[in-house]
Parts: sequence; C-alpha cells; structure tokens
Amino acid sequence: MDVITIGESMVLFTPKTSGLMRYAGDYSSKVAGAESNVAIGLARLGHQAGWISRLGEDEFGTRIHSFIRGEGVDVSQVHFDDSASTGLYFKEKITPDELRVTYYRKHSAASLMTPADLKEAYISQAAYLHVTGITPALSEGCYETVLEAMEMARRNRVTIVFDPNLRRKLWEDSHARKVLRSLASKADVVLPGWEEAQFIFGESSPEKLASAFYEEGASHVVMKLGKEGAYVYSEQSKGFVEGFPVNNVLDPVGAGDGFAAGCISGMIDGLDWKACARRGNGVGAMATLVEGDVEGLPDKGRLRDFMNQRDKDDV
Ligand code: ATP
Repeated sequence: MDVITIGESMVLFTPKTSGLMRYAGDYSSKVAGAESNVAIGLARLGHQAGWISRLGEDEFGTRIHSFIRGEGVDVSQVHFDDSASTGLYFKEKITPDELRVTYYRKHSAASLMTPADLKEAYISQAAYLHVTGITPALSEGCYETVLEAMEMARRNRVTIVFDPNLRRKLWEDSHARKVLRSLASKADVVLPGWEEAQFIFGESSPEKLASAFYEEGASHVVMKLGKEGAYVYSEQSKGFVEGFPVNNVLDPVGAGDGFAAGCISGMIDGLDWKACARRGNGVGAMATLVEGDVEGLPDKGRLRDFMNQRDKDDV
C-alpha cells in the first residue's frame, strides 16, 4: 500500500432548485468525503490507496462502500456498524451568492470510530499515512483514533501527511486551533491552506506561516494558495510554485483534496518538493474544472497533457 487515509464519507444531497430546502422536491446525490477524495485521487494516478472508516449498515453506507471500492481504493478496513447511521449532508444554493451546508452526521457510524478500528499491521505496511483535521472534530473517539494512527505510523516509519482541513461548523474555534496546531506539529508533512494557517497562527505571509509550522515540528510544509499555486518550505527547498490558474472555475470544492493527492503522488514517485507542489497544483486546478469533488480528478495521462499544454500556453 502506498497511502492509507482515515475519515468519514457521507452522501451529499443537493436540491435541483435554488431557494430554501423546505421547498425542494428533487435532489441529486453524490458520495463525498475529504479523505476518500484523496484516496480516489491517488488511485486514479495509479497508486495503491486504502481508506479506513465506519459506515452505517444501511443503503447509504452500501452506496459509499461500493463507490469507493469501485474507484480502486482498498476498503478492507471499513467496518459496517449496525448501531448507527451513515452521515448525510445537504448543500442548498439559497441565492446565487448564498450557499448553505447542513450536516446530519452527529452520532454517525464514522463518528463512533475508536482506536480499536485500527490494525497496526495494516498501517505499518504503507509508505504514507494521510490524516485531516476533520476527523478529530467528529468525536473524542475519532480524535483518539487519529492520534493512535499517527503513533502507529511514527513507530513504523510511515510518513505522516496532515491536512488541517478546517471545518468551523464542527467545533469551537479555540479548541480547533489548539488541536490542529498540535496535530500539525506531530506530522512530517503539513498541507495547510493559507487561510487555515492564518486561523492557526494569526495573519501573516505564506513564508512566515510555513516557517511557523516548520519550527513547531513539521519537516515539510506545502501551503495551498488557490489559483496562485503553492508555497514550499523545507530544509531542501523554499519558495513559491506557480499554479495553473483556472479563471472559469466550475466547482472549487475538492481542489484542496486534489492538491493533496497530486502532492502525495509526487512524494511516492520521489520528486523534489517543488515538483510535488507542482503536481498538486495540476491536480487541484483540474479538480476545479468539473462539477463534483472527485469527478475532475485526472489519471496520469490526462494530468501530463494538462500540465504540458498549460506550459506551452505560457511560452
Ligand atoms: P478546498 O476548498 O477544496 O478545501 P483549499 O482551500 O484547501 O480547498 P485552495 O487553495 O482553494 O485549497 O486550492 C487548493 C489548490 O488547488 C491550490 O493550491 C491550487 O493548486 C489549486 N487551485 C484552486 N483553485 C484554483 C484555480 N482557480 N486555478 C488553478 N488552481 C487552483
């Protein structure tokens, strides 16, 4: 296994009409979850990825399981729980400028995860462990699960990649800040967005914020800067890595997960840090071109064509 990730995936419902959801009759639905998005992105790029989670023993759980397995991700460590439901969420486009997300995930099956859901033998055979700041926000058990997975990874020399993925709706700001900062300090690689970094350390430049993560313990920091690209900070290299700007973004959600998949793919292939960030930028940019979190994630051939074409356009 190249990469193992842990987290909750849910079914996302979107009303087909705008306005308040109380008037909605028809919905479209999709599978969504930051960590499984990253696993799917990695599988598309030709890597072996595994996803650890719990699902309710219900139709939504079965749908998520089949979808993620169908994308080529190993789901052997996903447990079905008959005591809780699969999480759901809804995205209402109330007006063209007002989007509202409502979660039905409290006490969901995934929120009941505990360190007992982890097998050290499974984590120890991976090269990378990917965790995000969403999982520890779900429950005390999930927080402990993430900590234990990181400890297992550390014991077995598995490189830990942490994406803060701040979700302010899930927890109180000061608690979130403390936990995210502490988890980042225990990771080898941190992939924060610029805004998340400012949430944790206060307003500052990407250079200063990346160095703050570095000073606290992360060996490599790759900060996401939207269409500007990324900023890399590690002992070997420091500097901005230009993005592949997309001006006609169709759906920005999932760009960060695409970036993580691209960047980790570069690490697996042994690229230098700037080249990893560049691959992250390529996948992140492609993710914005298609509606849906994972639908735009490319395979290696499409990614290469996109990046080569953009490079030619720049000349
Ligand atoms: P998310 O909302 O998915 O959590 P994020 O806030 O973590 O995303 P962003 O900085 O918005 O992260 O985007 C992640 C990466 O995706 C960027 O660093 C960049 O590489 C790419 N990206 C995002 N938006 C664009 C864009 N408009 N054009 C080109 N690339 C983009």
